[in-house]
Amino acid sequence: INFKDYNIGGELLKAIELLNFKSPTKVQQEVIPAALEGRDITVKSQTGSGKTAAFAIPICQMVEWEENKPQALVITPTRELAIQVQDDFFNIGRFKRLKVASIYGKSPYRRQERELRQKTHVVVGTPGRIIDHIERGTLDTSCIKYLVLDEADEMLSMGFIEQIEAVIGSLPKERMTMLFSATMPADIHSLCSRYMEDPISIEI
Ligand code: AMP
Repeated sequence: INFKDYNIGGELLKAIELLNFKSPTKVQQEVIPAALEGRDITVKSQTGSGKTAAFAIPICQMVEWEENKPQALVITPTRELAIQVQDDFFNIGRFKRLKVASIYGKSPYRRQERELRQKTHVVVGTPGRIIDHIERGTLDTSCIKYLVLDEADEMLSMGFIEQIEAVIGSLPKERMTMLFSATMPADIHSLCSRYMEDPISIEI
């Protein structure tokens, strides 16, 4: 299996080549085709499996460059993960010239607000700070078509459930949702059944 077998553009293939990814990992082989079809997806997999590229590659393919407002939102438990995910999106989307903003707590609003005022295709952030930006009117979620909940079990054990539900409540109903988690306890299943439509379940 080769990345060229997927329906992804030359700009992304060039970036994937530069990253030295020779062939898709197992989780990527499962997630990329389903995501490109627009399906909701739940994925049980560990860090290190290549899960970030599994959602970043199809999202980078599907976002429209011409749209100025954010089209994809990735929610992560920590700022470290948000920065890492932003970096991965930047590397995969570089030749498509995609703009990726990161927003997280314990960091000044000024830089984040400046980024959000400019053209932004993808926003990556932690739950509390995403809510803050929505409430301040500095994050416009009206064009979000792709939502990713990354390390969902971590977010729930950190007590972020209410913030996550508030964020999801502010998003357009017509969207695609992907959830990644190392474990699938009952509260994750309940989250999936409330916010996803006929999801594909992938276990790696
Ligand atoms: P992750 O599970 O997203 O934390 O990714 C783990 C590591 O695997 C990262 O350093 C990625 O850059 C790398 N990686 C992701 N996909 C591939 C691939 N298809 N081939 C080689 N390395 C990859």
